[in-house]
Amino acid sequence: MNRFREQLTKPITLFGPCSAESEQQVLETARRIAEKFPNNIFRAGVWKPRTRPGSFEGAGDPALHWLSAAGKETGMPVITEVATTQHVEACLKAGIDMLWIGARTTVNPFAVQEIADALKGTNIPVFVKNPINPDLSLWIGAIERLQKAGIDQVLAIHRGFHSFETDVYRYAPRWEIVIDLKTRMPDLKVICDASHISGDPVLIPSVAQKALDLDLDGLMIETHINPAVALSDAKQQITPAVLHSLFEGLVFRKADADDKDFHRKLLELRSRVDSTDDLLLQALVTRMNLIKQIGEYKKDKQVTILQIRRWEEILTRQIAHGSSSGLDASFIKKLYELIHEESIRIQTELFNQ
Ligand code: PEP
Ligand code: MN
Repeated sequence: MNRFREQLTKPITLFGPCSAESEQQVLETARRIAEKFPNNIFRAGVWKPRTRPGSFEGAGDPALHWLSAAGKETGMPVITEVATTQHVEACLKAGIDMLWIGARTTVNPFAVQEIADALKGTNIPVFVKNPINPDLSLWIGAIERLQKAGIDQVLAIHRGFHSFETDVYRYAPRWEIVIDLKTRMPDLKVICDASHISGDPVLIPSVAQKALDLDLDGLMIETHINPAVALSDAKQQITPAVLHSLFEGLVFRKADADDKDFHRKLLELRSRVDSTDDLLLQALVTRMNLIKQIGEYKKDKQVTILQIRRWEEILTRQIAHGSSSGLDASFIKKLYELIHEESIRIQTELFNQ
C-alpha cells in the first residue's frame, strides 16, 4: 500500500502554518500553497504547548476538521503533530493523512512507545523530528519504535538542536549528525525543517540549499498567509508568495550524473583521495610511535607528560604552515587538539604501566 507515492518522492515538501488558527486561515493558506505546490503535504500544528504556559496553545480538536477540509478541497494530504495516544486517536478519526512527532516528544521513549502502540495496524506515514538534544541514538530509537509497530513509511526531520551558546540559528543545525543518521539508515528519507533551524526568514534559503546539497529528501517550511499576526512562531513564518520565490531560487542537484567522463574523472580523483588517506594514516602511525618513544624517555627521567610550551609551539607553527597552504585555521586547531589529546592518552597509558 503506497497511497502517497508522489508526495513522498523527492523533493518532499511540508509547507503550511506553524499552527492552525482558524478555519479561514487554514483554508486560505492551503489554497495559496496548492496553487504552486499541488504535491505538497500540508502541515499545521493543532496542539501547541509552548515552552512556557500562558500563550496560544493551539486550537485543539476542532482544528483537525479545518485541516481535513483543506485536504479535501486542495487534494493535498494533511499532517499534524501528535504527542499522546489521544492525539493519535483524534487524528485517525478526523482522517488526518500523516503525522509527525515533535522534538520534545522524540526525547521521551515512553511517549514514543505509546504513540507507536496507538498506531499499530494503521500504516500511516510518520515523520520523526530529531530530539532537542543532539542524541542520535534517541532519534534512531524513536524511528525504530515506529518501524517495529509496523509503520512502513517512517521518515526523519532535522529541525536543529538546542544550544546554550548564542548562535545565528534558532536551533543549531548539526549536519554531521544527519550524515551519521543517513550512513546508519541508508533507506531512511530525511528532510530538513529549515524554519525551526533558522528562526528567521533571511536564513531559510541558505539552510534549505545546504540541505539539498547534502542530498536530503525534502523541506519543511512554515508558511502563513499573514505571518505578522501569526499566533505562534510569527518571526520565522513566510507568506506563500515568498515561499514560491524562495523555492524558485533553490538549486536541485542530482546525486549522480550519467556522464561517462564525469565517472572516470571522479574515479581517478577518488583513488587519489584514498591513497592520500593511506598516507595520512601512515603519518599518524609514525607520529604516535615517536610519541611513545618520547613518553618512555619522560617516564625514565621523571618528567611530566604535558609540556605546555612545546604544545603551544606545535600549534602555532602548524596553524601558520597550514594557513599559508590554504587550510582553514580553526580546522587545523581542531585537528591538532585531537592529535595532542591522543598523544597525551598514549603517554598516560605508558606512565601507568
Ligand atoms: C513545529 O513544527 O511547529 C514544532 C513545534 O516543531 P518542533 O517539534 O521541531 O519544535
Ligand atoms: Mn513552529
